[in-house]
Formats: sequence, C-alpha cells, structure tokens
Amino acid sequence: VDSIGIDIGGTKIAGALVAEDGSIIRHTRRPTPAADGEAILDAVAAMVTELASDGSPRPVGVAAPGFIDLARSTVYHAPNIDWHNEPVRARLRERLPGWEISLDNDANAAGWAEWRFGAGRAVHDMVLLTIGTGVGGAIVTAGQLLRGGFGAAGELGHMLLVPGGRLCGCGRHGCLEQYGSGRALMRYAVELADAGGIGQGLARLRADRGAIDAEGFAELARSGDTGALEALRELGDRLGQAAASLSAILDPELFVLGGGVSIAGDLLVDPVRDAYLAHLPARGSRPEASFAIAALGNDAGVVGAADLARSAGAISRAAD
Ligand SMILES: [Zn+2]
Repeated sequence: VDSIGIDIGGTKIAGALVAEDGSIIRHTRRPTPAADGEAILDAVAAMVTELASDGSPRPVGVAAPGFIDLARSTVYHAPNIDWHNEPVRARLRERLPGWEISLDNDANAAGWAEWRFGAGRAVHDMVLLTIGTGVGGAIVTAGQLLRGGFGAAGELGHMLLVPGGRLCGCGRHGCLEQYGSGRALMRYAVELADAGGIGQGLARLRADRGAIDAEGFAELARSGDTGALEALRELGDRLGQAAASLSAILDPELFVLGGGVSIAGDLLVDPVRDAYLAHLPARGSRPEASFAIAALGNDAGVVGAADLARSAGAISRAAD
C-alpha cells in the first residue's frame, strides 16, 4: 500500500505519495507559513488531499524539526515554527477525519529513508549525520529507529565536543553543531582567508563576491584550492572525532553523511574517515565502520516519513 510523507522545513513544506518500495509516485510543495502554526496545519491537510487524488485514506507521516514525543503525536518544540507542545496529530485529524497520521523528527525520517532505501540499505546498524546549517542525526540499530525514552534520541549535533566552547542555539556551550556544521565550515573559511598563506584563494573569493558563499566555496574546493580543502579538513576532523565517540556507544557498521555540505563528496568523507580512524578507541583490535554519502538527497524526509507511517520504524531484515 502506498503512503504519504510530508516534510515541514523552515522555508518549504515538501509532500509526496510514496510506494512501498520507496519510490515517489507524486510530488508537491508549498512555502512554509512559519510564523503561523495554524496555517502550517491547513497547508499540510491540503497537500495530503491533493496527493491522495482518489480521496481514499492511507497512512500519513509528517516529519517536523524539533522534539517529538514518543507517541508521535505532539511537537514539544520546533525551532523557527510557532509550535509549543502542539498536538499536531490531533489537529490534523480534525482536518482529515478517518486518516492515520503519525509524526516524526525530520532527521529521524531522513535516516530511516537512507537505511531502508538509500546508502544504508545493506547494513543493520547505521548512523546518519546531516551536515547542513546545523548538524542533525539519526540512529538505526538492529532494524529499529532509535527514538529513546522520550522520543528525542539522535540529536547528534548536540553532543559535547569542546568543553566550555562556543555557545550553541540549544543554550549549552561546545556542541558538535558549533564545530561540524555548514556554518562552522564558513567560519573556518573566513579564518583562513584572514590568515593569508593557504587562505589566499578564499580571500580572493571574498573580495570578488563580498563574502564567502557556499556556492563559491564549493567551486573553489572542487578546483583543489588548498585553503578550501583545509577548511573541509577542519570540519571533517571535528565530525570524525564525534563519529569515533559514537562508535564507542553504538558501534554502527556505517556512517552516512547527508545535508547540504555532503555535496562535497569525498572531499568531506576522506577527512571525516581519517579523523575517525585517528580517534577510534582500541583501533586495530576492532572492526572499523564505513562511510558513505547519503543517496536520497532532499527526498529523504518525505520518503522516510511515508515509510515510518507504514512501518512505525521497525523492520526485520533477515541477517545473512
Ligand atoms: Zn547544542
């Protein structure tokens, strides 16, 4: 049976009708009326009706940023959206009577999609790190999405990396997000541009464009500029350290790197893997995890939300 996935982002809401094999049958999207929580619910309900053009109810999974409760019904808190302890499932059921609706965190939905249909489809245990403006994450272990005791597991961007370090949006100091995100990458690039030396290419880019933008940076990195590669190495070093600590806890077979920065491909994977190996506890006397770039891109959220609506995040995959 097909199902519907809706992914609520800060600027747009994406929706899709998704087949059981993870393929997208139909797509739709709208801008997010972020300042108006009611208008978001109206938009989601309208998109569901539009996607189910035959009008018959099927499972609907909604992925949203922020903390979702274990019952998958309430958004405790969503950054940039006017929802506080919002009973999203109940509010959507008022608009869509008779429909099965479930909620999940957006990074968890993306991780589930990668494990089911993307880069992680051949492994049992996988960790997703999304490297965008911030750092998100998801954990799949023994065929289950790890939700934790309260629903808020997998917030990997907020693991402590630097005691007493930079202030994070979560209110704490020194989170991975402050050192391993796209925003941190731009900070490293600016520092290198200021320092001269290998940062000359970055300094020229800044002079040409008025600022170091993500697109210009990506071009420079692809051309082999040593400053841009050094900035990626700094970023990868932090992410690799975090991956090594995660291995001590979760022992995944595979780390999948997603989010906007992952378009850097091997230029990101190589430094992350190097730092992971350098920091891995008991290296040499244990198996080492592999690293891969996410395969589903921007579709991961809708595909994962749709599949979670059907499977609830638990699949038994025969061990071979
Ligand atoms: Zn934090």
